[in-house]
Amino acid sequence: MPSRPGSSGPHAHGEGQAPGAVTVIGGGLAGCEAAWQLAARGVPARLFEMRPGKSTGAHSTARLAELVCSNSFKSGLPHTASGELKREMRVLGSLILSSADASAIPAGEALAVDRELFACEVERRLGSAAEVVREEIVRIPDDGPVIVASGPLTSDALGADIGRLTGSEHLYFYDAVAPIIEAESLDPARCFEASRYEKGEQAYINCPLDREEYERIWQALCEAETVPVRDFEDPKFFEGCLPIEEVARRGRDTLRFGPWKPVGLTDPVTGRRPYAVLQLRRENAEGSCYSLVACQSRLTWPEQRRIFRMIPALAEANFLRLGVVHRNTYLDSPRLLDASLSLRSRPDVYFAGQITGVEGYLESAATGLIAGINAARALAGEAPFVPPSETMLGALLRHVAESQSPSFAPMNASFGILPPLEGRHRKADRRRMACERAYEAMRLAAAEAGPATHM
Ligand SMILES: Cc1cc2nc3c(=O)[nH]c(=O)nc-3n(C[C@H](O)[C@H](O)[C@H](O)COP(=O)(O)OP(=O)(O)OC[C@H]3O[C@@H](n4cnc5c(N)ncnc54)[C@H](O)[C@@H]3O)c2cc1C
Repeated sequence: MPSRPGSSGPHAHGEGQAPGAVTVIGGGLAGCEAAWQLAARGVPARLFEMRPGKSTGAHSTARLAELVCSNSFKSGLPHTASGELKREMRVLGSLILSSADASAIPAGEALAVDRELFACEVERRLGSAAEVVREEIVRIPDDGPVIVASGPLTSDALGADIGRLTGSEHLYFYDAVAPIIEAESLDPARCFEASRYEKGEQAYINCPLDREEYERIWQALCEAETVPVRDFEDPKFFEGCLPIEEVARRGRDTLRFGPWKPVGLTDPVTGRRPYAVLQLRRENAEGSCYSLVACQSRLTWPEQRRIFRMIPALAEANFLRLGVVHRNTYLDSPRLLDASLSLRSRPDVYFAGQITGVEGYLESAATGLIAGINAARALAGEAPFVPPSETMLGALLRHVAESQSPSFAPMNASFGILPPLEGRHRKADRRRMACERAYEAMRLAAAEAGPATHM
């Protein structure tokens, strides 16, 4: 792999860049995928990776595309959300997926990899396609195109410069996300729509709890298993937005006098004010997903599923994503990016990976793929390629660029972000039909966009 030997120290910009080359900042999943897509379109890429000179605290090797935690790319089955995203990425010639296929290990329905082999495979395939420079970038180059793919643990200096470019109020340094559930998995007999004091439209779904239910859940929250704080995380970050279990641990009544207060709400079944109420807030225009208000959490995922399902209305809840409170640098993308992943205020700057407000290995690589394709298309004077919203990738891009949620939260591939199917269909058929529609739409869009998109 070509790298500039002996180069070291922070870099202000892509000095000495070959004419027509694109600077890619970050040699993670998104950055490698972007560089690959550029090279596949004949555009030279200069990929800057700060490791091993400077670490993120979570990475432990000098390899490109290191998987920092799990070795799984989730389900490989075609009619699952991540299975569909994989199919679409394969249509677009994904480096990360072909490398994952080549380093796969037996894992049932999941696509899991030998992580060392996987990273070697990415480096081997990328080969001479990109020039790899082992340096920290501290300032976004003034002369684009540039793709910023520096990840959830972007170095402090670059984070500050991104803040300069985007406005620091549009850059988040930690992620406090409440679980999101599929609306149709709620028990309608155990919840009701209303706003407190009947003010405004009935914007919330309310899940009432009697005293016994409340105390059982409170106890479970206090005793549940939590994900430990990691070395690169600062617990002070979390004071600004306390995890729900931390609120519970501060006293028996802190939840029902705080985020789960019942004031201004009357349960239509009993005609009385409940003992406590968990409110659910709509997450999208279709009303197909709802978030559990103030339930950001550091509990382990099995514990979150177990405890939130103790709320009667959520007994059968299908979780589209679970709560987190962790270090995560990401943009307020709906205010900043368009769906091609270009910065609206400086279109020659693209963002890719977890920093755009997607969540997960696969999703990060998928946005790298789109940023790489679009930087190459812009250089060729072509219109950007944005897959249709019926595709899983198109729906993710629209979440990033157009989310209407007042508090933008990172999202992974899920059926909840796809537009609804036309007509009525049996539940058992809906996912298969949504995947077939998505795959067909991706194949058509890629073919129509021409050889610069379809590989
Ligand atoms: C601790 C942790 C665990 C996670 N576990 C999982 C998991 O199990 N499964 C899952 O699906 N997702 C997980 N994620 C979420 C996410 O999928 C991964 O972080 C994923 O690697 C994101 O891909 P990326 O390309 O955006 O960033 P990364 O893969 O992190 O790549 C960014 C690269 O940029 C480099 N960089 C940073 N700043 C600079 C700079 N200034 N100059 C040059 N280089 C720079 C970094 O060293 C890094 O190599 C986890 C995230 C974290 C933080």
